[in-house]
Amino acid sequence: MTTVLSVEGVHKVFGDRHVLRGISVDVDDHQVVALIGASGSGKSTLLRCINLLEPVDDGVIRLDGADITDPRADPDRVRRKIGIVFQAYNLFPHMSVLANVTLAPVHVHRVPAAQARAKALELLARIGLADLAGAYPDRLSGGQQQRVAIVRALMNSPRLLLLDEVTSALDPELVGEVLALIRDLRAEGMTMLLATHEMGFARQVADRVCFLDGGTLVEQGPPEQVLGDPQEPRTRQFLARII
Ligand code: ADP
Ligand code: MG
Repeated sequence: MTTVLSVEGVHKVFGDRHVLRGISVDVDDHQVVALIGASGSGKSTLLRCINLLEPVDDGVIRLDGADITDPRADPDRVRRKIGIVFQAYNLFPHMSVLANVTLAPVHVHRVPAAQARAKALELLARIGLADLAGAYPDRLSGGQQQRVAIVRALMNSPRLLLLDEVTSALDPELVGEVLALIRDLRAEGMTMLLATHEMGFARQVADRVCFLDGGTLVEQGPPEQVLGDPQEPRTRQFLARII
């Protein structure tokens, strides 16, 4: 099995807050790994460090074996290989769906506009939204906007997709269509690391679940084990609180 992402002993400190305390986690090719844990446990910070939106204070992150935390690594090159989608869908309101999706490939990664447009339309067609390519985001439902945000993250055919609580800003009836898209991506073999508070979804889609508490990875394993038969008291307490 090829390791796509390798996080080794990562620490992150904000002022006097030690937010990540030596996190190590691997994601293999075609694997889906779910991060669970209370609000403030460090899930988003870990994803942001992996996408080089935050520098790490210690430890190493490797993508396909290359140390991306090396100061000489080019962040644009790294981000071309790692797609990220956040909780709030972050589409630019003053740009059409198509313009949102093609913006970074054309203006950051220098993909020819016609090529980016063709790829965007193909991806939008796959999620049934090609006819909304010219629409502005406010015409789309929250679920449609979030699916467009996922498509935008797929434009560079990333090696790894990071998803940070992508359903938590959605009305409950819109959650299903976004989760279905993530399930489809899994079936196509997309390698993903996702933070979620949807335990049922984590159980269905994840090959491995990692429980974070206070910036520490307390327990990880197959979902049926971590969610069904947790070994660590802190995991048990967390699950007892939310279920
Ligand atoms: P989660 O995603 O699990 O809810 P976060 O990674 O967002 O957790 O936050 C972990 C901790 O780091 C929290 O205590 C949060 O307040 C703190 N934190 C996150 N980002 C910053 C920042 N830019 N500056 C200071 N503290 C931060
Ligand atoms: Mg978060």
